[in-house]
Amino acid sequence: MASLASLGAGETNGSHRGFAIGCVSLGLRRSLFRGIRVIAIIGAGPAGISLAAALDAVGVPYEVFEKEQIGHTWRAAPADLRVLSPWWTDVLHPRAMFKGNPFRKPLAGEYLDHLLATAGTLRGKVHQSCAVTALQRVDGGWMLQATHGAAGPFAAVVLATGYFSMPRQPDPAIPTDGSVRVLHASAIRDYAELDALRDGARPVVVVGRRVTAGQLMLELSARDIPCAISVRSPLEYRRHGLLADAREVCYFFWETLEAWLKPGLRRPSFPVMEGGRTRELVQTGRVKVMPRIRKIERGELFLEDGSRLPAAAVLHATGYQADLRLLTDGVRLDEYGVPLHSNFEISGMSGIHLLGFDNLYDHRSRYLRGIRADARRLASKLVEDSRLSK
Ligand SMILES: Cc1cc2nc3c(=O)[nH]c(=O)nc-3n(C[C@H](O)[C@H](O)[C@H](O)COP(=O)(O)OP(=O)(O)OC[C@H]3O[C@@H](n4cnc5c(N)ncnc54)[C@H](O)[C@@H]3O)c2cc1C
Repeated sequence: MASLASLGAGETNGSHRGFAIGCVSLGLRRSLFRGIRVIAIIGAGPAGISLAAALDAVGVPYEVFEKEQIGHTWRAAPADLRVLSPWWTDVLHPRAMFKGNPFRKPLAGEYLDHLLATAGTLRGKVHQSCAVTALQRVDGGWMLQATHGAAGPFAAVVLATGYFSMPRQPDPAIPTDGSVRVLHASAIRDYAELDALRDGARPVVVVGRRVTAGQLMLELSARDIPCAISVRSPLEYRRHGLLADAREVCYFFWETLEAWLKPGLRRPSFPVMEGGRTRELVQTGRVKVMPRIRKIERGELFLEDGSRLPAAAVLHATGYQADLRLLTDGVRLDEYGVPLHSNFEISGMSGIHLLGFDNLYDHRSRYLRGIRADARRLASKLVEDSRLSK
């Protein structure tokens, strides 16, 4: 078996205090930690990092495997993207809550700094540039196949792989002869890249009706790039204005209270498009709303209502799907597109857990505020499992 040390000391990050053990067999690992067994966390985004911090708090050893760098999704997002939820709900630990106005909505870059600062305090190893490519059940746990070798066995594995690596394309796919550039919103790392899509009076057509679609409409309009939006159903907007802002401040308190009163409340979790300027762009006709695109040919979009439109580009703001590529095909999904599970553990895959996916525990589970609460719940479960297995 290749060793954890073979993953390369140069590829690890974090302070490595306490748990830096390199390559050891399961037996030795157990004795080093007085019977507590090691957990593998796949993904070093907010979910992976908050679970690592929660495991540090309860003294459970772990190792984190990240295919890129810590906080990859937040590094890839435009740094001036504004987070939708207030700072006090986003922070991974309460100490950071009063750094600045707790009710502000931070920029993605500010949140990334917070994530990296939290990661810097971890005691476990974080292997960066180390993609996990397969999971294999072995006696007493799970082995990971990673790009730099095999690692394990681990008592439990947590998939914190998120959504961002799996941009969702329209279904069914739009047939195209390649005459119009088509790209997904995830390809935009910096809004300045939108300038490259400009093509005279031809509009960039945004496909989608949620927050990202609205944000792209705003950014394109701010650059005076003609823009249209293609939707399957009528647009809905979040309310705007002073009263709506006050309601939103109250909403997050109410949501916290509701979560406490109704533990495990599951429901559809997607926020609608921002109102205000976005709504104004549509209502004044500066952004035209169009039906679904049927096909793309000779530089034109053929629309479902029979009309045609020459376009500069098509920009899919069609969201993301859970990155579950490490699981076998036979795994059954629930109504939220997440493997059937109980207490974060995938049904029929003992020892494999999920964190950061939709409606895992409640409707907040895929958002920062849900992730941090779920991380603590999952850490307690892993402690309990570890006691039971002694
Ligand atoms: C553009 C955008 C804006 C968002 N804004 C908000 C917001 O305002 N408020 C809010 O609450 N939520 C927001 N979210 C939702 C959610 O909070 C974030 O997506 C958050 O990053 C989820 O954390 P995560 O750790 O689950 O996933 P990610 O941050 O995506 O982390 C997953 C990590 O796993 C790694 N990985 C994947 N596969 C492997 C593998 N095989 N091996 C090793 N590593 C792997 C990836 O490289 C990545 O670093 C936003 C999401 C996006 C995409």
